[in-house]
Amino acid sequence: MQPTVNATTRPLSINVDRGAGVMRIAWLDGHQSEYALRWLRAFCPCATCREERREQLAAQDELRLTTTPPPSTEIVGAEFVGQYAIRFSWKDGHTAGIFPFLALRASCPCDDCNPDGPPPLVID
Ligand SMILES: [Zn+2]
Ligand SMILES: [Zn+2]
Repeated sequence: MQPTVNATTRPLSINVDRGAGVMRIAWLDGHQSEYALRWLRAFCPCATCREERREQLAAQDELRLTTTPPPSTEIVGAEFVGQYAIRFSWKDGHTAGIFPFLALRASCPCDDCNPDGPPPLVID
């Protein structure tokens, strides 16, 4: 089932400012949201990343050191997925995450929407 697309969950324009490391969405209802690319990558909704986060949470008592580079927080491309989501291509080749606008809007980091800071993206 697709979420209902309306003015609050539909972007008028999206701008990825790679210099500043943010994505700005101007919504059809006039609201503006600004998301840190670092934050978006940290909540990548793809199955692989979600599984990794689950494992990390389960292993909180462990201290793990790894020599693999951290996930890229640079975006090299973006495309719409139907009318309801956006997919990013990260610099390290990761393209699996599809970010629904509904979830992005709910996690808008501005003080009006979420005065205590943006909640994690709720995917399903
Ligand atoms: Zn991912
Ligand atoms: Zn907001």
